[in-house]
Amino acid sequence: MDIEQSQNQNLKCSVCNNYLNVAPVMTSDDGTVNKCGRCLFREPILNNRNTLYESIGAKLNFPCAHEDCTDRISWPEVQKHERSCRHRKIECPFWNCRDKGLDFVIMNDISHFETCHPGSLHKDKLTLSLQNVTHLQSFMKLLMVNDTPFLIMVHCIKFGEMVLIGVYNFDSKIYDYEIKMYSDQHNRRYLVFKERVFLYAEDQHCLYCLQNICELQTHRFSKKYPDMQKDKYKYYAKIDTMCTKNVLITENVLFEIVIREKQDVKAENSSSER
Ligand SMILES: [Zn+2]
Ligand SMILES: [Zn+2]
Ligand SMILES: [Zn+2]
Ligand SMILES: [Zn+2]
Ligand SMILES: [Zn+2]
Repeated sequence: MDIEQSQNQNLKCSVCNNYLNVAPVMTSDDGTVNKCGRCLFREPILNNRNTLYESIGAKLNFPCAHEDCTDRISWPEVQKHERSCRHRKIECPFWNCRDKGLDFVIMNDISHFETCHPGSLHKDKLTLSLQNVTHLQSFMKLLMVNDTPFLIMVHCIKFGEMVLIGVYNFDSKIYDYEIKMYSDQHNRRYLVFKERVFLYAEDQHCLYCLQNICELQTHRFSKKYPDMQKDKYKYYAKIDTMCTKNVLITENVLFEIVIREKQDVKAENSSSER
């Protein structure tokens, strides 16, 4: 059964105004205030779990919370869909755009980057030089591959002994990327490794959390949560720069990042049979 968009204001969360379709659904003593699982840690704190509503809701299909999305989503798929919905809005991840209420559907609109961050916008593939990376220490790029945007974060630790690279997508497809490393002087040798592209999540993938200057309450690895710091590098490929320079016999290394959509498992199987 489908929930229709227009009616049912009383099926919506009193805090975020989304449908009550993420568990646990909590209700006030008098039943007038309802809260969805997205808002579990937000005020007001409600103590009654509405298991009756949850058991009915679990059998329904809901419209997506994002404008322009026509998908109908079943209860268990709601959070997964909302995080990867190509219609979702994200806030500009750059520091100087914070708190300006700048948000956009990045899958169809990169005009903000064209006007405000043109130096960070690249096409097809990204080539970085190690000298440049260690000079800049920490930066972000938006890479467009066949009109699909990817966010790339690069961050040096221990003054450049280690370079971290994170690549993020914004849709429900699965991608991986290849980093090819070679000398800027000769091409006798190169190193290649393959890494996974992660679905971008504002609360986890923040360049300023990596730099330890972010204070946002909503960011999992911000300064507010010292206990979480040990986990914050897990979404990044780690490159030991000294080791890489020795293997490639060079003073400066070039990194070439190429992103590809991952063939699904079925396609891989059938091609290996042939
Ligand atoms: Zn809510
Ligand atoms: Zn959609
Ligand atoms: Zn959607
Ligand atoms: Zn911006
Ligand atoms: Zn942050």
